[in-house]
Amino acid sequence: MESRVVLMKQDKVLDAARRLMAQKLAIAGIEHHEVLQAMATVPRHAFIDPGLSAQAYEDSSLPIGMEQTISKPSVIAKMIQALMQSQKKMGRVLEIGTGCGYQAAVLSLLAKDVYSIERIRSLHDSARAKLRPFRIANLRLIYADGIRGLPQEAPFDGIILAAAGLGIPDPLLDQLAIGGKLIAPVAKSDSVQQLLLIERLSSQRYQRTTLDEVFFVPLQSGTM
Ligand code: SAH
Repeated sequence: MESRVVLMKQDKVLDAARRLMAQKLAIAGIEHHEVLQAMATVPRHAFIDPGLSAQAYEDSSLPIGMEQTISKPSVIAKMIQALMQSQKKMGRVLEIGTGCGYQAAVLSLLAKDVYSIERIRSLHDSARAKLRPFRIANLRLIYADGIRGLPQEAPFDGIILAAAGLGIPDPLLDQLAIGGKLIAPVAKSDSVQQLLLIERLSSQRYQRTTLDEVFFVPLQSGTM
């Protein structure tokens, strides 16, 4: 069979697998319609090593190089749903930890503007290359240390961290708009991390809610 035909067939199989993944997310408790739609739309397989395509729509984290991983679809959906709550669309969103660019692509369907920071140059470059064919006009990728946030584009209505620190970096709390929400995994000990949802109620008041236990790669300082 001509290789183009094989590839088209593979795409159809992967499209069906992705729709099934979104249905499973709905059964597992993701209720937000737009989040489910975005998860059913973005081709996760296009962001990972082609050798792992068959696993792209399983609910598991996968290696993306440089000892980093793409998060589980259910965790990504849960975090974005918590950030959005009843909104249909978010305003300005900042992501710390672009990784392979998958979550940034999902966010671009759910927010007006998305800024995504990565501290590892090779991952930033390869995310840029993977995202290019999608021509996403409302997504900006930045190579920098995300612990400092992105003061020149603040305030943000939503901030999402894809890596776990010991706490929430102060610059990120400062760059949250009043009424804005931040979601992040935070390490409680060497082996336990919890998802934290923080809402900024006023310039000085933040409300914290602890969600599930999770497992993320560490938030590290500096660039490389
Ligand atoms: N959202 C990503 C998940 C990537 S894993 C995806 O869809 O693939 C987390 C990423 O956070 C890693 O690529 C890691 O290099 C990055 N990271 C860790 N600390 C960081 C920091 N201080 N600033 C920016 N990125 C950071």
